[in-house]
Amino acid sequence: MVNQPLEFIHNTLAQKVMFGFDQSAQHLQEEVQHRNAKNIMVVAGERELELAETVASNIEVEVWYTDVIMHVPLDTAEKARAIAEENNVDLLVSIGGGSTTGMAKAIALTTGIPIVAVPTTYAGSEATNVWGLTEAARKTTGVDSRVLPETVIYDSRLTLSLPVELSVASGLNGMAHCVDSLWAPNANPINAALAAEGIRALSSGLPKIVRDSQNIVGRDEALYGAYLSAVSFASAGSGLHHKICHVLGGTFNLPHAETHATVLPYVLAFNAPYAPEAEARAAAAFGTDTALEGLQRLRSQTDAPKKLSDYGFTADDITEAAEITAEKLPANNPRPITVDGLKTLLTAALTGEDPAILHHEPIRA
Ligand code: NAD
Repeated sequence: MVNQPLEFIHNTLAQKVMFGFDQSAQHLQEEVQHRNAKNIMVVAGERELELAETVASNIEVEVWYTDVIMHVPLDTAEKARAIAEENNVDLLVSIGGGSTTGMAKAIALTTGIPIVAVPTTYAGSEATNVWGLTEAARKTTGVDSRVLPETVIYDSRLTLSLPVELSVASGLNGMAHCVDSLWAPNANPINAALAAEGIRALSSGLPKIVRDSQNIVGRDEALYGAYLSAVSFASAGSGLHHKICHVLGGTFNLPHAETHATVLPYVLAFNAPYAPEAEARAAAAFGTDTALEGLQRLRSQTDAPKKLSDYGFTADDITEAAEITAEKLPANNPRPITVDGLKTLLTAALTGEDPAILHHEPIRA
């Protein structure tokens, strides 16, 4: 990139970030006072409710909304919107993982009510203006500035209860945002810098969490890396990896974080030889000779998810998944992609083969 003239358009999304261990209750109180919010609706799933109650302990809550379902089914979104409007809600506070943030975004999308997001996983939805809804087994996503949380409150105390396995899968979901950003449609030097720092922070933090789930330095690094990953992704857009995972989640109902964690090395192996700058940038961030080596070292240190067959995907699904993905490909993927190429990639991910085999696959453009 340094050897050629720079030319790009970059949008920075406006958002306040408050970061501090065990400070979420205080930060939320300050934010509510600053905004003079009167009718607050807290969105938190049943499993996150206890955490949410501690975060909201200093504020008055008008409505508690707990019907949170992954990928936000449209009927639940409509119910939540009606409740928000009936109660004249003037601030949404989402406390939970990407599914919870997603529900708050669905409410904001039609009502325009601002969101303060308090994330408890590494999904990163809190730092993007992307919404997702599902209806009749089809996931629709879109970009709208109304769904971007105005404030994000990060508190790694809230992640101490996230089981190690889920922490690893979720952290690798963040890693996927970083790596895919490097060749996504709007990749530019600014989002590449954020992605590289995200790769460094996540690959430093996740092994610490695996060694000790209560390690605050590791938890902070992972949360910080997850934020950077999402800022980078929001700016760079969806690359090949996200297009594949979107189909696996939306059509085959595979679990979000685990799917991202499993598919990433295959997309990296597939694209890396055709994207030398991105590859070198990621390798440097991992501190290894090649990006794939860095990712695989991290995956082995963290005992990461290995094969899609563990999550309900079967050989019979491959053709359909490849064909649907092929309809939605990013125009500028560094390596030409065919349905056959996608089938090869998905077959390797299904069974957990060594991703390096994809380096040698013949390409039929
Ligand atoms: P999730 O929110 O469904 O959480 C996974 C599980 O972990 C849930 O059972 C939840 O209750 C539990 N959990 C969450 N935090 C916990 C904690 N601190 N301690 C213990 N348990 C906890 O999963 P996710 O991976 O965070 O989010 C996935 C969803 O987010 C998907 O729908 C995905 O499409 C969406 N997403 C959206 C964007 C975007 O930019 N719009 C980005 C990433 C993910």
